[in-house]
Amino acid sequence: MRNRLATQPLFDLSKPGRRGARLPKCDVPVQELEQLLPAWTQATEPPSLPEVTEPEVIRHFTNLSTLNMSVDTHFYPLGSCTMKYNPKRNERLAGTHGIVDLHPYQPEDTIQGMLQLLYELQEMLAEISGLPAVSLQPAAGAHGELTALMVAGAHFRESGEIRTKVLAPDSSHGTNPASARMAGFESVMIKSSDAGFVDMDDLRSKLDEQVAVFMITNPNTLGIFDRQVSEISDLVHKFGGLIYLDGANMNAILGVTRPGDFGADMMHFNPHKTFSGPHGGGGPGAGPICVNEALGAYLPVPVVVEEDGRFRLEYERPRSIGRVRSFFGNVGVLVRAYCYILSHGPDGLRRVAENAVLNANYLLSRVRHILPVPHGQRCMHEFVATASDLKKKAGVTAMDLGKRLLDYGFHAPTVYFPLTVPECLMIEPTETESKETLDAFAETLFRITEEPADLLHETPHSTYTSRPDEVTAARKPQLKWSPTSDSDKTNH
Ligand SMILES: *Cc1c(COP(=O)(O)O)cnc(C)c1O
Repeated sequence: MRNRLATQPLFDLSKPGRRGARLPKCDVPVQELEQLLPAWTQATEPPSLPEVTEPEVIRHFTNLSTLNMSVDTHFYPLGSCTMKYNPKRNERLAGTHGIVDLHPYQPEDTIQGMLQLLYELQEMLAEISGLPAVSLQPAAGAHGELTALMVAGAHFRESGEIRTKVLAPDSSHGTNPASARMAGFESVMIKSSDAGFVDMDDLRSKLDEQVAVFMITNPNTLGIFDRQVSEISDLVHKFGGLIYLDGANMNAILGVTRPGDFGADMMHFNPHKTFSGPHGGGGPGAGPICVNEALGAYLPVPVVVEEDGRFRLEYERPRSIGRVRSFFGNVGVLVRAYCYILSHGPDGLRRVAENAVLNANYLLSRVRHILPVPHGQRCMHEFVATASDLKKKAGVTAMDLGKRLLDYGFHAPTVYFPLTVPECLMIEPTETESKETLDAFAETLFRITEEPADLLHETPHSTYTSRPDEVTAARKPQLKWSPTSDSDKTNH
């Protein structure tokens, strides 16, 4: 039985006069409100807030928090999103008073510790990426892409070159073409070969002097490392273009290889993926970018600089593209990334990547007997399986499998991405899972493929909501509660 305190809006529990806490009568002289605040600033009626007791509030929110799946409660193999465990040590450190009580308007002399932390993080990301100039400003991976493309735009404007196109493979994340358009470029798609790599003939046919940037994800969203990457970057550089590396998959190559070493000129990190920051419903992300020395001049302001052991925010950068984010970026996420990188150290980060790849290959070796994995016997940190045969044979879709997994206590993998593989499930176990968890997942997946199609079409059965109308939910979100809203199980 679901607890009614979790599934009813708090407003429905409201009874006039109920309170969380009652204060004793004031025993010091009371000033009239009018003496403290001008009349025009005062509301004429009290706000319409639910009137409930403290236990009701606590139970409501505690129970509400259990309706969802999270990395703290379930295996969460959401490909590309890297839902690895978020170490609680990072949360504790990011929550210390010296950090959370800072205000961005404090004088620099009083925030030297924070500036040092951010400066050191810039240095660490430069080392990990092999690209020396860093901006911590962007607020998410997609924002990092946009910022880097604006940096590229500024570079070409200054050198008087008119370049209008940004290329990206058809397996790329939707944010790549979207960022290209937002930054004012035309987005051009490059085909993938049957093996899942960049189709070199297609790339050659679309490369010319109008190409500003080629955006590549490596390892790509199929979970394979494109060995042509050096050849690709030589080719693009020959035409005067730049290489952008979508760093969402850095989990696979941390400490093993560096984008700057295989030809990238710019990249973003997703600290909330690679460096274990809580994300999705758990918190905001960040999208720091690293660029080569020449492009460093165009990075957004401010940049954290060090002079004689003192740290400051540098705003005077005449060739900078300007500001892209208020204050210093999503500092809370950056602090967690800093803790994560420091606590692992260089060798530890390499082991993270090695174990992420090992776990994914172990799971791949078990899943491919259940669902075909079209792109190879081996993978990096994730792989893409397909339910195409199952759909033809039994009418069961990738969506059905993902939904049914929820009933068995597993978060669904990413489904229907990348777009190049029909009926796909993109599975990323991450390094933080045990062999037992991976075995249980594979066995459950097998069991589901043996279940009747009719049952699978109606799953999940154990969740609060079963199959919401996802298109309507995305196109016409109903974000405001009203007393008439239908709390029927099927209609959220
Ligand atoms: C997650 C992701 C992005 C976008 O990052 P956000 O932080 O969600 O904006 C871009 N590319 C790939 C391959 C991703 O997985």
